[in-house]
Amino acid sequence: MNHRARYYHNRAPEFNTCTSLIGYLMGAGAELALAELLNRVAQRTEAFVKGVLFDCRQCGQCVLSQTGLVCPMTCPKGLRNGPCGGTLHGRCEVDPGRRCVHVRIHERTADSRIELMPLRPSPDTALFYTSSYVNHLTGRDRAARTPLAYLELGERRTTGPCRTASRLEAALRSGRWVMTTEVRSPRSASWAHLDDEAELFRDHFDAVNATAYLNGRPSVSSPLAAARLAELGLEPIAQATGRDQTKTSFVSELIENQLNGVHNLLCLTGDSFVGAPRIRQVYDMDSALMLYEARHLRETGTIQFTGQAVKDPPRPFLGAAINPYTEPVEVPLRRLKQKAAAGADFIQTQLIFDVAGWSCFLTRAREEGLTDDLFILAGVPVVISPKALAMVPSIPGVHLPEAVRRRLEGATDLRREGVAMAIETVQALRAMPGMAGAHLMLFGADGTALVDVEQGCRTRDAEEARVA
Ligand code: SF4
Repeated sequence: MNHRARYYHNRAPEFNTCTSLIGYLMGAGAELALAELLNRVAQRTEAFVKGVLFDCRQCGQCVLSQTGLVCPMTCPKGLRNGPCGGTLHGRCEVDPGRRCVHVRIHERTADSRIELMPLRPSPDTALFYTSSYVNHLTGRDRAARTPLAYLELGERRTTGPCRTASRLEAALRSGRWVMTTEVRSPRSASWAHLDDEAELFRDHFDAVNATAYLNGRPSVSSPLAAARLAELGLEPIAQATGRDQTKTSFVSELIENQLNGVHNLLCLTGDSFVGAPRIRQVYDMDSALMLYEARHLRETGTIQFTGQAVKDPPRPFLGAAINPYTEPVEVPLRRLKQKAAAGADFIQTQLIFDVAGWSCFLTRAREEGLTDDLFILAGVPVVISPKALAMVPSIPGVHLPEAVRRRLEGATDLRREGVAMAIETVQALRAMPGMAGAHLMLFGADGTALVDVEQGCRTRDAEEARVA
């Protein structure tokens, strides 16, 4: 069989019997032409009908029957497992004029119970623009349509022994309140600024995230910046985003992190680069699939998507993010449950300006037993610059209540007010059962404000202890 014949044979095995007969009667050229014709007719008819009815994107591995007839491929990021962190009040991060696809799926399929959602594999790009009916009949889409089996992760995962070499894990399991923050990876070939920040944070924070590629801007990669932090004696948290990575590069980074002494990894789907349309965004995996892949490798020693065994597999302590301000609240709760089942050990939340809203979400999460499965660190904003404050409403998924905005905008000394508000927020969060710590995020250029917050919290603790 020549190259072209093999191509059509593989693409249209379903037509082989009938086309073989014609091929026998009329020659191999007619067989191939007929197979191609039948495939095209099936694909284009399906694309037209489903396009009109469901806004079909022709992925060739249709899951409409599982999603209340809402096509998940209409999500601008092509996510199949739930919303990204950019959705706010049910609206889409990329196109706020539309409702989030996963909120619509929830409204069509779910009741108020917080059930564990199936974990769908990422779509098989080889099936794009083929007929999903034909693929279904022949079974070619089976792997892409069959949910992954969650690994057994055990009961009350927050109380067991340490499973990794992470110092962050040890701190969280000790039961004490944990504080983390973040540094931005350098955008030039110099470590000077990162080294200075590392020195500043060294004695104040239990772990430090290395953020990278913010707003699509090139920088040193997060694993490399995290390796530098580890070299300087800090406990780093590397970040990986589905927006920027393929499955291969993701697993490669897991291995590199282990080699570099980086034992914590935060898995993020990633913001869309709105306004930078020429950047190709990958989304080969969403954050839940990244967690699953990393957990699979850690627990079984095999790469899930290739089946290959890895000697000395990486053993990261795994984190995820959650946006509690998506409505209805069942949507982020189900997503949180899915991330816990996929393999998350700890959570760093979206920015919490609305403490009361967070408290409602946390109460529901506690009722679902999620605080027994996850260490939850709340994202606490430290806003110290007017320019950064003006930018906050444009950050995907951030809910800034009017009263908080007025308080910060009306401050005569924004740095002092921002630090005071962050200390109040940390103290309020700390009083909530189920919280494990806080993750401080700076809005401004002066990292000493983060240290001021951490020290301010310590001073308050000491005062409260004295009074008690
Ligand atoms: S908010 Fe995120 S998950 Fe929802 S449709 Fe938009 S890009 Fe997709």
